[in-house]
Amino acid sequence: MPTNDKPGGPDSFDVIVIGGGPAGYPCAIRAAQNQLRVACIDEWKNRDGSAAFGGTCLNAGCIPSKALLESTELYHRAREEFATHGIGVAAVSLDLAQMQKRKASIVKGMTGGILALFKAAGVTPLQGHGKLLPGRRVQFTAHDGARRELAARHVVLASGSVPIELRSAPFKAPHVVDSWGALDFEAVPKRLGVIGAGVIGLELGSVWRRLGAEVTVLEALPDFLAFADQQLAREALRHFRKQGLDIRLGAKVTGATVAGGAVDVAYSDAKGAQHVAVDRLVVAIGRRPYTGELLGADTGVELDERGFITVDHSCRTGAEGVWAVGDCVRGPMLAHKGKEEGVMVADVIAGRYGEVNYKVIPAVVYTAPEIAWVGLTEEQVKASGREYKTGVFPFQASARARAMEQAAGFAKIIAARDDDEILGVHIVGPMAGELIAETVLAMEYSASSEDLQRTIHAHPTLSEAVHEAALNADKRAIDSLNR
Ligand code: FAD
Ligand code: NAD
Repeated sequence: MPTNDKPGGPDSFDVIVIGGGPAGYPCAIRAAQNQLRVACIDEWKNRDGSAAFGGTCLNAGCIPSKALLESTELYHRAREEFATHGIGVAAVSLDLAQMQKRKASIVKGMTGGILALFKAAGVTPLQGHGKLLPGRRVQFTAHDGARRELAARHVVLASGSVPIELRSAPFKAPHVVDSWGALDFEAVPKRLGVIGAGVIGLELGSVWRRLGAEVTVLEALPDFLAFADQQLAREALRHFRKQGLDIRLGAKVTGATVAGGAVDVAYSDAKGAQHVAVDRLVVAIGRRPYTGELLGADTGVELDERGFITVDHSCRTGAEGVWAVGDCVRGPMLAHKGKEEGVMVADVIAGRYGEVNYKVIPAVVYTAPEIAWVGLTEEQVKASGREYKTGVFPFQASARARAMEQAAGFAKIIAARDDDEILGVHIVGPMAGELIAETVLAMEYSASSEDLQRTIHAHPTLSEAVHEAALNADKRAIDSLNR
């Protein structure tokens, strides 16, 4: 581990990363791999007061939500599906405290793992607040209040994002909560309201629905998953409604009143003023960049009108030697997008090649059926004016999906008519998040749908759905009707 104290001067590093979430910590590790002296500052504190690296994703986002999605899916399948397989279980019972304990131990293991990775790579972990000062100096305030000034050749800002609060339904724990609150319920709410049918609303709505809550989801827009391919969105909506998620579209929330332990949510839709009474309300209407107390005066770093730190294609801010990555800059708020930006910046700082291909970033919604896509939607391709063809393969025709009792949904490929380039892939079905990876690689290599058609896929696997969808783009599918 390098020592960074210079007698009589500020602590000095090659790179200081402010923020230790999935954008910041990989940046620190890659910079250290590039033989640079690195410190990573992070101020995250969990509800029990413990400090932890990993940011939103590991502490209160991706990881705890996926732990609960897995547990609740198993619970649901044991209750609803095992009999179909000929498996009798006397009584399936729920131990929510144990489910939450398992989630917490996964989070603890993963966040603790970052410290181990830092140690192995030689990154100096600093737990507390970081504030950028002019001239690439950083004021560091440890959790115990001790303050010191650090200096670096490069500073990377990775301060992440926080939930957006809705003026008509402000957070008021324990009744009106954000996604973090909704991950930590100690009892299954009898009636759960969710504002926002986005990624969080669908994932957390599914978690509590599977455990028995009556879930009502209020979405302001008239279209479901408006940013997704609409053929995929329609299919997903059908399945979610069948599962009992009461998704109400075009619903504009006007107020939420907590009284007698319940929340009365007022909203208006095409039919006029409406009400729904719930026991807990989750507000999940998006997240905003977080830059609280991050920038001192005259740093030269600018924010745009929505509060994002302004950066160029390579994540450079307007201040020399200051970079910004992850949720605090433009682009999708996804952990893997932030990670690749962090790694890119660490490589560019070290004089190596680094680039993020923003056109090929996969998105996954971890519901059942799972949803995943990469590239353009059919609506976007149509609007571009480029001639295209589509290939669709239903999981009903997949032997593996049927064996898994998960034959819902389809895989869809959109390819250009002129040169057959794959323009977008949209999957709703089992393990869609894993299946999309093959097509991300294909698009990264500018593959054609014929390339996928000529690639051997093992039988019987779910990946054959991608193969057959590619074949169907030229109406040459073997295992389904070529419509
Ligand atoms: P963050 O993870 O927010 O980390 C920023 C860190 O910087 C925090 O620890 C913060 O405390 C610290 N910090 C901020 N300012 C300072 C400062 N001045 N000094 C010191 N430290 C500071 N994305 C996916 O790709 N897949 C998923 O499955 C997924 N699931 C999600 C589920 C939920 C419920 C939520 C809320 C989000 C989910 N996301 C998911 C989104 C994902 O969590 C974010 O895109 C990701 O965490 C962004 O990473 P980041 O490093 O930019 O910011
Ligand atoms: P989101 O942008 O995915 O969805 C928010 C939804 O709320 C949208 O459908 C929007 O139309 C709706 N909405 C906005 N204002 C509303 C209002 N006043 N009333 C009713 N509906 C309203 O945001 P999110 O679900 O809060 O997630 C935040 C971020 O976290 C997203 O950017 C997402 O990428 C990320 N995330 C990713 C994953 C994943 O990758 N699996 C999981 C969870 C969160």
